[in-house]
Amino acid sequence: MNIEKIKHSIRNVSDFPIPGIQFKDVTTLFKDADCLVELSDGLYEMYKNSGITKVVGIESRGFIMGPILATRLHVGFVPIRKSGKLPAAVYEESYEKEYGLDTIQIHKDALTENDVILLHDDLLATGGTMLAACKLVQKFNPRKILVNFIVELEDLKGRLTFEKNIRVDSVIKYNI
Ligand code: AMP
Repeated sequence: MNIEKIKHSIRNVSDFPIPGIQFKDVTTLFKDADCLVELSDGLYEMYKNSGITKVVGIESRGFIMGPILATRLHVGFVPIRKSGKLPAAVYEESYEKEYGLDTIQIHKDALTENDVILLHDDLLATGGTMLAACKLVQKFNPRKILVNFIVELEDLKGRLTFEKNIRVDSVIKYNI
């Protein structure tokens, strides 16, 4: 995978959504056909031999590469959504955000204990969002959980929040 090419396609927006944040904008990656295909091919190579049976994406930026990768792997895609969006019975998990609690949900019939699950989101910062997603997925007692991000903000050490038996990969790493 041409990491430098993909890295250069990600736009940095200073002070968004609040002063002091360096926002990594992946929309500029997605709009570039060569970068999108490069990332899709690269992720497929990373996971093609991992026995993945479902890709689980986190709302909302995990809903872009998640289904693309699921298609490449020829497996199903499952959404984790913000509270109140999924229509059928759900499991839910709450976690701390900057301003109070946030809640995410998954359909109770979305996964089984036979699944090998690849959790995907665009970016790893503190890890709070993905840790809550891992807890949701663990309710199904799956065979294995793997975690993938396009971007990792290494200085925030978010990957230390995950259990040691969970494989955590990121494509692009930044030190901010
Ligand atoms: P965290 O739970 O702290 O790991 O934050 C991860 C979530 O917040 C992801 O869904 C990201 O899309 C978003 N996020 C946090 N920080 C940034 C950033 N600097 N640039 C872009 N997205 C971010």
